Amino acid sequence: MAENGHSEPLPYRIGHGFDLHRLEPVPADAPSGAGLVVCGVRMSTDVTAVGHSDGDAVYHAVTDAILGAIAEPDIGQLFPDTSPKWKGADSSIFVTEAVARAGAAGYGLGNIDVTVVLERPRLSTHKDRMRTNLAALLRVGADRVNLKGKTHESVDAIGTGQAIAVHAVVLMIRRNT
Ligand code: MG
Repeated sequence: MAENGHSEPLPYRIGHGFDLHRLEPVPADAPSGAGLVVCGVRMSTDVTAVGHSDGDAVYHAVTDAILGAIAEPDIGQLFPDTSPKWKGADSSIFVTEAVARAGAAGYGLGNIDVTVVLERPRLSTHKDRMRTNLAALLRVGADRVNLKGKTHESVDAIGTGQAIAVHAVVLMIRRNT
């Protein structure tokens, strides 16, 4: 290790992100079309994710995976939910910031694998759009991005539709300098 506490740059860095949001019925006074937002796709559901921003748990988990890979502060530290600045925010801005920080640190995205645990609705009809959204934000081809949907087999809070959980694993590759 060098004297400043930094090791030699690694050719690869792995990151993991997890997020969970509570689901609640869409408020009666919400604008029409207000539903659950997953990976940039707003679905016509009768529930919505409780959160300070738009509650997109995929974008939050992906943000934390990238920030984790480059050993930077996490999403809650960079975008505190006490700040009015991020109230109702489109969570794609968090992913974009994480990608920018990774670029500044000398890393680009290798590939990413995301698992969404949600009892309903099923994601199958939305998956292609979700992958396309994520690939565009990460500035890679869709073949570098995978997204899986799973139920929680009716078990526990997620299985009874009270929450959505997301796991993301990312591999970052050091750019030639
Ligand atoms: Mg979150």
